[in-house]
Amino acid sequence: MNSKQTSIEYLKGVGPERARILKEELKIATFDDLLHFFPNRYIDRSQFHLINELPKNNSEVQIKGKITGIEILTQKKGKRMVARFEDKYGKMDLIWFRGYKWIRENLKLNQSYIIFGRLNWFKGYVSMPHPEMELEINFKKSIKKSFYPIYPSTEKLIRSGISQKVIQKLVLNLIEIGGNLFSETLPKYVLDFYKLLDKSDALKEIHFPSSQKKLSRAQIRLKFEELTYTQLQLILKNQQRKRKIKGFLFSEIGSPLNNFYNHKLPYRLTSAQKRVIREIREDMGSGRQMNRLLQGDVGSGKTIVGLFAILIAIGNNYQACFVAPTEILAQQHFASLQVLLSDSPVKLNLLTGSTKLKDRKIINQELENGTLSILIGTHAIFEENVRFKNLGLAIIDEQHRFGVAQRAKLWSKNSIPPHILVMTATPIPRTLAMSLYGDLDVSLIDEMPPGRKPIKTMHRFDNNRLKVFQFIKEKIDEGQQIYIVYPLIEESEKLDFKDLMDGYDSLSRSFPIPKYQISIVHGKMKAVDKAYEMKRFEEGKTQIMIATTVIEVGVNIPNASVMIIESAERFGLSQLHQLRGRVGRGNKQSFCILMTGSNLSDDSKIRIQTMVKTNNGFEIAEADLKLRGPGNILGTQQSGILRMKIADIVKDSKLLKIARELAKEILKKDPKLENSENQIIKRNLSNFQNESNIWNLIS
Ligand code: ADP
Ligand code: MG
Repeated sequence: MNSKQTSIEYLKGVGPERARILKEELKIATFDDLLHFFPNRYIDRSQFHLINELPKNNSEVQIKGKITGIEILTQKKGKRMVARFEDKYGKMDLIWFRGYKWIRENLKLNQSYIIFGRLNWFKGYVSMPHPEMELEINFKKSIKKSFYPIYPSTEKLIRSGISQKVIQKLVLNLIEIGGNLFSETLPKYVLDFYKLLDKSDALKEIHFPSSQKKLSRAQIRLKFEELTYTQLQLILKNQQRKRKIKGFLFSEIGSPLNNFYNHKLPYRLTSAQKRVIREIREDMGSGRQMNRLLQGDVGSGKTIVGLFAILIAIGNNYQACFVAPTEILAQQHFASLQVLLSDSPVKLNLLTGSTKLKDRKIINQELENGTLSILIGTHAIFEENVRFKNLGLAIIDEQHRFGVAQRAKLWSKNSIPPHILVMTATPIPRTLAMSLYGDLDVSLIDEMPPGRKPIKTMHRFDNNRLKVFQFIKEKIDEGQQIYIVYPLIEESEKLDFKDLMDGYDSLSRSFPIPKYQISIVHGKMKAVDKAYEMKRFEEGKTQIMIATTVIEVGVNIPNASVMIIESAERFGLSQLHQLRGRVGRGNKQSFCILMTGSNLSDDSKIRIQTMVKTNNGFEIAEADLKLRGPGNILGTQQSGILRMKIADIVKDSKLLKIARELAKEILKKDPKLENSENQIIKRNLSNFQNESNIWNLIS
């Protein structure tokens, strides 16, 4: 009895050997897997190329013609078979390097063939290696439809003789079996409401489209189905997590927060900050573990929100830690929290890679006996010997810098996991975030503190450097400070270092001491020296800070109002945006100048133009997504949702939104999927099991 889960081995034309290869190469193990193995493009089979008018590139073409001769050539590299192929207008060679014995025995001379394959041009001559071929009389019989599906393939598949034609044949065999292989997977009310093609038609049309229009409808139907099911799963998992994972119950707001709020809060919170703090408070007071992603553009004021969360934890007699991606940032956070918490009995300390052993010992002791309430630091915090008495909250700044394994370590410190707040300034569109981190709650600060002037961004070519220097001088005369940033990409670290030093030399000449003072910070310096230089700049003792990207994230010096980015074409969009966010923190008009060479790639041009055009982190993130694709958002590579069969969360973001709404609606009305109309969903849910995404791995 054939069913969706029948092993592919038992399909006519497969057998154990091919089954093994299909599984290894394409992860096709069952009938249903093959049916859901979709072509990634289609060739219009009603169109034939003429040999004298072939495109002069390596495209795939279909030609009608006859074989007029065959020979086997022996060369140093080995044997090959060459067939002369002709139509009325010209001649070309078809070439086989292997497996030609069988082909030779079966090839018919002077009969009309339809061939299909990739062109190979060499010194003005064209040939086609390993064409797919079919006698014209059979061609007319076999596939009536005019679209020829092209499936994703691999070298190994081709070598094993599993050609496009073979895959097509196998799919046709499935279509012949028909029956429950094609049974519907969406409830009728969904099909009716969205006017979707039914499953059976969609599957047939996606493999062998009868028209462009039908193909589009089939694609929409199948994408929608996939998106709806993945969203249903994400939401269900999230609900499960919330039910299952107990968290510390922080029922008090506590005096530390009240004191801070009434006496020390340096400014009025924006309403976005207030809303997010409320969301965090609700999480921490729910008895379940908080697992929240806080998104907010650079400079939107995430740190103070983090502090509120910390104060709640402390007010409930728990400890908190604040993890930053770099030492400089950790120091900065430490310094600013120290100021905010001055006159308060709450004890805090800093732990980084360069903390002295003797200080470490004290920190460890105080953490274990509970006298130390807040630990700020780098990933040094995750080390084995750092043990908290009762860690109630972990804040992780700029999550994209941290590996999952490190995050997971936090959990082992307690039987009940601490609340987790991840802060990021690399926003991704909200629906996308929900889908990628489906079982993570997302908060958003979508408002800047008042009084900020939008940063003016300009693009300048290297040969305009003197004008840029002039501009810097004017700004320094106005009492402002300047960042100049050089790229640092690991592969060419030496070269980058030289660029930085050359830049420093030429700058020192144009901005001579004593009138001008320059700080320099780069990755090769010791942490103490970096801190010293940062401090001089922060105190206004130097006017220019030259740095590699170490200042990328989080540095907060409001008097710095000009950001010059050297070789800006070498930075990614989100990095550029982060860097730009270092200025525009005071009340002065700020500037960001992107310096580039004159030869820019198309992608670089788009990046620079995007930066000049917008200050909005979400628009930038979206442009970045389009350029790089979602798989490159750090930390999301493992996410199951990126391995969907047909839908694409970026390109199909509109469908995704609709599917997410539908999924929410279904589960709101029928949380356990008990209604008879939803039984079809319940039955099919497990078939759409994507690999867990990163957050599930943690929990
Ligand atoms: P980010 O979200 O990039 O981490 P920060 O927390 O570093 O931003 O805040 C950026 C700057 O804005 C800091 O100088 C901070 O003191 C200031 N700030 C934060 N919230 C407010 C507010 N509500 N009103 C005025 N200034 C604020
Ligand atoms: Mg920050």
